[in-house]
Amino acid sequence: MKVLQVIKPGEIAVTNKEIGKLKAGEVIVDIKRVGICGSDIHIFKGSNPFTVYPRVIGHEMTGLIAEIAPDVQGVRAGDGVVIDPVLNCGVCDACRRGHPNVCGSLKVMGVHADGGFASQMIVPSANVYKVPETMSWNKAVLVEPFSIGANICDRTGVEKGDRVLVLGSGVIGNAALMTAKMLGAEVIVCDIDDAKLEKAKELGADHTINSIELDLQEEVFRLTKGEGVTVVIDAACVPALFQSLLECAAPGGRIGVLGFSKDFSEINQFEITRKELSIVGSRLNNRRFPQVIRWFEDGLLEPEKLINSVHSFADAERVLREIASTGVNSGKTIIRLD
Ligand code: MN
Repeated sequence: MKVLQVIKPGEIAVTNKEIGKLKAGEVIVDIKRVGICGSDIHIFKGSNPFTVYPRVIGHEMTGLIAEIAPDVQGVRAGDGVVIDPVLNCGVCDACRRGHPNVCGSLKVMGVHADGGFASQMIVPSANVYKVPETMSWNKAVLVEPFSIGANICDRTGVEKGDRVLVLGSGVIGNAALMTAKMLGAEVIVCDIDDAKLEKAKELGADHTINSIELDLQEEVFRLTKGEGVTVVIDAACVPALFQSLLECAAPGGRIGVLGFSKDFSEINQFEITRKELSIVGSRLNNRRFPQVIRWFEDGLLEPEKLINSVHSFADAERVLREIASTGVNSGKTIIRLD
């Protein structure tokens, strides 16, 4: 099989690799599409603390089942599937309590284990989810980023009537925006890039705030008639902004955090206690694939609106280098392997 490996930070090689032996419970998937994510770029640049090199990157992948181990049930050769990249042990305390995405020995394909920049992958059958034949590969490959949006909307309990502030209008912020809109919330998106805010409006944002031009808090309170927002989804992940997020929240508000920075945020207890705020983390996804596939199937979300461009595998290295130098934009760049 053909794979794209990050050999060490800044160095990429496309090589042929033995696929290895299919073990009990596993399936071989012919990869059709892999999405490029900010975390792939971090691995390429050497700024992902979880990665050991060399690494086949890519954790957003979809394809056709080529072969299944004799004991595998539920899928068969020829089925189109999306692959949930979250590998958990299934026996630790977190797994037993229903938190496989924060398993004590968590591995993510494309980060801690080899991923989807490959013509084929061997994965546990428990990590594959069938997609209907009518769903395009370009749509199916977006299930993973939307599973992140689904997870944070669930963690913050977004529902009809909520006033949601989404910080950061990248792919994850946009997936959260679209999911929150689908769930019936009013959504304000904040970013520092007007082009991204324009895109957020096209995707359904009710209001946008450029926080370089306007004061975030003032504008949030103006737009919510002095009430504040019931939910904050922080997809910008700037530690210095955390206190202002607490201040934007309405009494009883929920704040969802997606960041990985180890820097400290200066916050005070007063805002949290006075308004009885809930602050929750959201990591990867907790088995959200079936739900997202259903949303896509039912036409409740239009994920294709997030697609920026689609490139051949031969162009993958050039595209990765380009994104690494220009930065990830608000749309999804996809690599095709068929
Ligand atoms: Mn991703």
